Amino acid sequence: MPTLELAGSPVQRPGISGQTASQLEAWFRERGEPAFRARQVLDAVWRSEASSLDDVSTLPAAMREALASAFAWDTIDTSEFVLADGGRTEKALHRLADGAAIESVLMHYPAGSDRRERNTLCISSQAGCAVACPFCATGELGFGRDLQAAEILDQVRSAARRLATRGRRLTNIVFMGMGEPLLNLDRVLETVAALNDPGRFGLGARHITVSTSGVVPGIRRLTALGPQFTLAVSLHAARDPLRDVLVPLNRRWPIAEVVAAAKDHATATGRRISYEVTMIGGVNDTNADSEAMAELLRGTLAHVNLIPMNPVAHTPWTASPMPVIERFAERLRREGLPVTIRRNRGQEVGAACGQLAADRAGAPPVAAVARRRARLEASSAAALRGERSAEGLPAGVDA
Ligand code: SAH
Ligand code: SF4
Repeated sequence: MPTLELAGSPVQRPGISGQTASQLEAWFRERGEPAFRARQVLDAVWRSEASSLDDVSTLPAAMREALASAFAWDTIDTSEFVLADGGRTEKALHRLADGAAIESVLMHYPAGSDRRERNTLCISSQAGCAVACPFCATGELGFGRDLQAAEILDQVRSAARRLATRGRRLTNIVFMGMGEPLLNLDRVLETVAALNDPGRFGLGARHITVSTSGVVPGIRRLTALGPQFTLAVSLHAARDPLRDVLVPLNRRWPIAEVVAAAKDHATATGRRISYEVTMIGGVNDTNADSEAMAELLRGTLAHVNLIPMNPVAHTPWTASPMPVIERFAERLRREGLPVTIRRNRGQEVGAACGQLAADRAGAPPVAAVARRRARLEASSAAALRGERSAEGLPAGVDA
């Protein structure tokens, strides 16, 4: 299994984008400076094209120096871009100060007759992921570390700057890149607060989606906090034996608990839950699967997104054929559930989460890939017979 390289020491200086107005005000006050300086810094961080503190001419030189020694202007280095879909999908590979690699994907959707243009950014919340879903390239990488709020926010600043040079604006943000956001929930909540804050990024809660593989205590915590964003739940299967294989976290929080928490969230917030289903040919797309899902979600405030699986090396699986996906969708629609079939973007650059970073981490030995494929064939076949997996939780999931 390729691992993320974590060379060197972690980020030494906190990223400036992770600072709130009151934190910066306190920083200035401690130095005997007026609090309005905090506003100037935030404007430079969030509203200017400045590429370093040196460009922030509203601040005196000595103050710029003091800030630069306390905070990093940028915590990510955007070293590599790959374009797909005729330039409409732009994948960025970012290096962090300690050498870890993460990804963000910017997707452009042109305006149609009935809607405005959208520019959606898919961001990472962790380097790698401990949940280890076998169809996911990030799961294959294993867990590196949690990202700091600034490291998540700097993916947004980087994309917003790139869009601004083209006269465009970021309209939507989805936490569907690398990592499980609800296993880094404190930092994710700080990030969302900065994104929402009119004095910082200023994006409305309705334009932000956080996707989880089903961390039940995290969902419950979000429900208690009230609506902050659209919650997406990666369901993938409505039967526990199969979901145990596809989302190993299911062995800790099975389907009934995940869906109960999601339903409570929808009831408490009045907001629809988005259920995501990655469609894997011959694995989770049978009539029995659509039947079970229709039963499970009947009468709930939900929207179902069916996404053909992006091919990922080291798995024996491919996407379900489109007619099969359409039949699956029909079954759910008969239950009155709204269903969208998503065309996946950037397939040729591996836009599924973590694929680029996995490629850069190098291919695992051929024998290991063969063993892994054989194990997946066996465990999904057993799951289809209704047998529950005897395997435990993946290492590193201790929530
Ligand atoms: N960890 C969170 C968020 C990041 S993954 C989660 O799992 O929800 C974001 C989405 O990408 C998930 O719905 C996941 O199932 C999906 N995904 C991962 N690998 C994929 C692949 N190879 N093809 C299609 N979708 C994939
Ligand atoms: Fe982690 Fe989500 Fe990938 Fe599963 S699908 S391994 S939870 S990033």
